[in-house]
Amino acid sequence: MPARILNGAPIRDQIYTELKQEIAELASMGIRPGLAAVLVGNDPASTIYVHSKIAACEQLGLGNIHLTPPASTTTADLLTIVRELNARDDVDGILVQLPLPQQIEAKKILEAVDPAKDVDGFHPMNIGRLIEGRPSMVACTPLGVMEILRRSGIPVEGADAVVVGRSNIVGKPMALLLMHANATVTVCHSKTRDLRHFTRAADVVIAAIGRPAMITRDDIRPGATVIDVGVTRMTDSRLAETIFANSPERLEKFRKTGTAVVGDVHPDVAEIAGAITPVPGGVGPLTIAMLMSNTVKAARLRRGLRAPETAASRA
Ligand code: NDP
Repeated sequence: MPARILNGAPIRDQIYTELKQEIAELASMGIRPGLAAVLVGNDPASTIYVHSKIAACEQLGLGNIHLTPPASTTTADLLTIVRELNARDDVDGILVQLPLPQQIEAKKILEAVDPAKDVDGFHPMNIGRLIEGRPSMVACTPLGVMEILRRSGIPVEGADAVVVGRSNIVGKPMALLLMHANATVTVCHSKTRDLRHFTRAADVVIAAIGRPAMITRDDIRPGATVIDVGVTRMTDSRLAETIFANSPERLEKFRKTGTAVVGDVHPDVAEIAGAITPVPGGVGPLTIAMLMSNTVKAARLRRGLRAPETAASRA
């Protein structure tokens, strides 16, 4: 039986409806949460991401500032920008779009962001709080995955979950969130000896690898839930012909456009999984929704206001 498709858009819309209510409540107190996005240089993919984030702010009526220092910006220049944003009262969330140009010491920049405004959840203090199980700002993508699981009624407590990938921005916080939700968590990575041994045994598999279609149907236990975080823009037609061999519509589209976005999970996995997120359209919409949610949450917490029981406060 084909898998249940876990589309991100309806879940994002549900979260936006809740956020709009919260934003209106804050507006009645004279508070307008604001996000500052800093994009250094003009990397095309980063530019698209930042524009989508600003557009989401506008859709929800959040304040937003978009700063675009040149690619030649130094660490010192960017530190000055971050400190100015830390000091501004109309800025509740600061987002420094990654990757940064090579000459910039990214760690220094991420550590300079006020942890209370760290809506990406990358500051070591916020990572420490997540490890302790009293999170405040948590990385948006793993947070979004938890929302997909929770709002789709996928049981996590007691489940065997495998996270493939151990990056600081996805894999590690993902594993921590699942562990705090009482899953039994295994983290796999490029040095894992027998990946399939772990993924085949799992009730829930989260793929955050960055390798197109690497997880195949033989890697997944029939009926398992599969969350595909990976996003790769593919232009190699031989690869596309293989990956889309059983997806005629996607292959047709690829042949017309010469490009396609694919996840880490092979499309054929949808034939045997119990539930699966599509790429595009699965996890992606939730990442931005959780950034909005974190911004509203930061606005509340900074003013000592209790957050309601919404997506943001549950993390
Ligand atoms: P990183 O490159 O930082 O991490 C990739 C991880 O995958 C590493 O831990 C690496 O292991 C592991 N890995 C690589 N090859 C293998 C392999 N053959 N077998 C098992 N594990 C392997 O990537 P990110 O975590 O930043 O991102 C992962 C993917 O998620 C990317 O495609 C990215 O574009 C996407 N992404 C999507 C988002 C969304 O909103 N949908 C948001 C953020 C990311 P090791 O540590 O040993 O090197």
